[in-house]
Amino acid sequence: MRLDQFPPEVQSSVIPEAGGQYLYRCLGCASLFGIEELLYTCPKCGSVLLIEDLAWDRLKEISGPKWRKIFDYRKMSNLAALSGIYRFHELIGSIIPLEDIVYLGEGHTPVIAANAVMKEWAGIDFWYKNDGQNPSASFKDRGMASAFSYLNFLINKRGVRDVLAICASTGDTSAAAALYASYLCGNVKSAVLLPAGKVTAQQLGQPLGSGARVIEIPGVFDDCMKVVEYLSENFSVALMNSKNAWRILGQESYSYEIAQAFDYEVGGLVVVAPIGNAGNITAIMAGFLKMHDLGIIDSLPSVIGVQSEHANPVYLYYLEPEKARRQFRPVTVRPSVAQAAMIGNPVSMPRVIKLVEQYREMAGEESVRIVEVSEQEIMDSMLVANRNGHIACTQGGESLAGIRKAAAENKVDRNRTAILDATAHALKFAGFQDKYFRDGFEPEFEVAPKKEMQNAPCALSYPDSVSSPAGANLGPEEFREFVEYSAAAIADILELKPLKGKL
Ligand SMILES: *Cc1c(COP(=O)(O)O)cnc(C)c1O
Ligand SMILES: [Zn+2]
Repeated sequence: MRLDQFPPEVQSSVIPEAGGQYLYRCLGCASLFGIEELLYTCPKCGSVLLIEDLAWDRLKEISGPKWRKIFDYRKMSNLAALSGIYRFHELIGSIIPLEDIVYLGEGHTPVIAANAVMKEWAGIDFWYKNDGQNPSASFKDRGMASAFSYLNFLINKRGVRDVLAICASTGDTSAAAALYASYLCGNVKSAVLLPAGKVTAQQLGQPLGSGARVIEIPGVFDDCMKVVEYLSENFSVALMNSKNAWRILGQESYSYEIAQAFDYEVGGLVVVAPIGNAGNITAIMAGFLKMHDLGIIDSLPSVIGVQSEHANPVYLYYLEPEKARRQFRPVTVRPSVAQAAMIGNPVSMPRVIKLVEQYREMAGEESVRIVEVSEQEIMDSMLVANRNGHIACTQGGESLAGIRKAAAENKVDRNRTAILDATAHALKFAGFQDKYFRDGFEPEFEVAPKKEMQNAPCALSYPDSVSSPAGANLGPEEFREFVEYSAAAIADILELKPLKGKL
């Protein structure tokens, strides 16, 4: 829609203006730092940072209902800069002018209702929000759109040059970082550090295809993270891991979109996400809190974070009910089908602790829960979901396994509606499906395939008397014989009934 066609009361707000007063806030010592330079940790105490808009309260001059109207009308604008996560510009990076925003099609992923079979199976009504339908096929694109838009702003307006964007990754961060870097290729080069053999073939192919330098490191993600942190402390690089607080801002868009998709009535929802490095769950909570603060939503949804038994440090931390006695201990991870969340020492743990506290203060002790599931439950859940119309990856399976367990153990009100994060596209993790279908899991995974859940292609074989077109040019008669023989064999396999009067 053209700007002059918007109703007069929102016309002046549809196209946002750059504004706000953004600073890094340290979660350890509360110090504030300017954002002109990219910071990843506090120069004073070493703790992680979040980005804060000191001029936030100016946004309260607009009422909650008016904000809703603005966001809803923005949906109709065809401006590229407002077509992705920056529909919510004022909430996630309003200092970035629209012309610097990098938009590659991220955000506004669909929410897909569970069918009757799935509702029954999960024990609760739910929707999947398919973040696998982002450009690099995972939710990481939300945070990268934000981090790279800010980088683009620094390049265009502050004279920053020759940026090397670098990250460690369990697979999807590097795919997203390499994609966004390739778009800015004149000014940005990218390099990614991957744990050798611990990302899927598809996830390895993505940064290679985008032209990034791909460096494989013997070890797991946590080891790659230590190396990349050392690099960012000692060399001139732009760190694109979720330690980079701009990533968190962009990922808040996930919550804003849920609110918008449910007409801003989110009090009855339970939002479920897998936890790895814990950036996503941090952003989800931060997003809902911000909307609530501006009166855009009037109650907060519950939040459930899910971890595998094989990578469960956040779950273990919250097992202790007494806040003062909780102690964070990193864990050594074991092989997990939820490989993108296979992290024993989450970088965003201090952010989680802070936001869980804030969230529980606003919405009650029960409003945030961490659930633990087995590898078997993750794998089975993904396969059941995919057999019922979804494109969930293994981590999306983890979300489903988590809500199913919470429902079975009465840890969630079954009258609520759950929104499950399908964090990546199933195709990225096809290798795990393949292991399940071929009975190929190494024992460490602790996944035993169920016969009725397996599937395999069925190759037709032919007697010597029937020639096939593989390798030979068949004459018309031979070809007819081939078609008839094949059709009869398929009819037999599928138990097809002949049309009356035929055959
Ligand atoms: C990164 C990732 C996760 C984990 O998210 P965190 O923000 O690290 O907790 C889960 N699923 C997929 C598909 C991912 O790529
Ligand atoms: Zn500090």
